[in-house]
Amino acid sequence: MGHRTLEQLRTMVDEVNGQLLKLISDRAALVKEMGEVKERQGVPKFDPAREKEMLDVLVAANPGPFDAAAIRHIFKEIFKVSMELQGQSHRKQLLVSRKKQAEDTVIEIKGVQIGGNRSFMVAGPCSVESREQLREVGRALKEEGVPMLRGGAFKPRTSPYDFQGLGVKGLKLMREVADEFGLLAVSEIVDPATIGIAADYLDVIQIGARNMQNFELLKAAGESKVPVLLKRGLAATMEEWLHAAEYVVSRGNTQVILVERGIRSYEKWTRNTLDISAVPLIKQESHLPVLVDVSHATGRKDILLPCAKAALAAGADGVMVEVHPNPPTALSDADQQIDIPQFRKLYREIRDSGLFKL
Ligand code: PEP
Ligand code: MN
Repeated sequence: MGHRTLEQLRTMVDEVNGQLLKLISDRAALVKEMGEVKERQGVPKFDPAREKEMLDVLVAANPGPFDAAAIRHIFKEIFKVSMELQGQSHRKQLLVSRKKQAEDTVIEIKGVQIGGNRSFMVAGPCSVESREQLREVGRALKEEGVPMLRGGAFKPRTSPYDFQGLGVKGLKLMREVADEFGLLAVSEIVDPATIGIAADYLDVIQIGARNMQNFELLKAAGESKVPVLLKRGLAATMEEWLHAAEYVVSRGNTQVILVERGIRSYEKWTRNTLDISAVPLIKQESHLPVLVDVSHATGRKDILLPCAKAALAAGADGVMVEVHPNPPTALSDADQQIDIPQFRKLYREIRDSGLFKL
């Protein structure tokens, strides 16, 4: 026994490795099947009591030479990767996932395409303030060939003393001005009860960053036939954002557009931190169209062009920007809105950058 050569011992270890590999693969297959059973039964994937029980049994049966801590460590790692396996097979089943639908979702509204082989632009004021304000922006959009007008009627403001928006009157103005200039209209809805009337006035319902996980609102939007523009939450992970989209899609409304609008970070030079890596990641993971709102992402006017170019280069399907005829007088987001000449220049530079698919 003591005379086995190193080579022989290595060969034997290789064999044991092979057996271990087969055993952990067999175990993985069982774990995956268990994940499906748990899914069907609505049982949580992670069961700490069961995990403790398995570890106790293993430690009790441990013949050595590993000590109990080593056995726990090795098996905890096996349990951890097994959990990931169950999590991944769960993710595969999301309707918004590429694993469920490989090809890009292309949304078409009144002949305008969002996603696919064409880049898209949406612009307009932060808030709808008046007919004249909106008409000035609408006219510029029409002249530049930008197809969608944005404008908030229900404004989720940090302070209750700030302008809260014109409400339904604002939605009516959005429809009126969009129709006058042959544009599409998008506006934020903050209350599930308003989704119904929004359909009368809007081509796209926006769900804002602050409401990304307002599940009742997401469910109501999912019941609607109106396409939904879903902003990423202020501190939402990709996983949370995708699941928010899943709320809408799983209720039957498959027309969802995702919008990266920056996330909270410690940096103060920008209002939010534009998470550019979110763009290729979400495009990789999901078939839904993705836009980047450069105005809310930066909170500034001076770096909109490079950020828009970066967004398109990273694979975004389009860009959102805030435009106001007289930004210093704006009732919300006065600092970040560009005026109409600035908008014309910005849009032309984006369009002619070679990154904007015409
Ligand atoms: C908006 O687009 O009007 C808005 C409020 O943006 P966000 O929800 O991204 O803050
Ligand atoms: Mn705004």
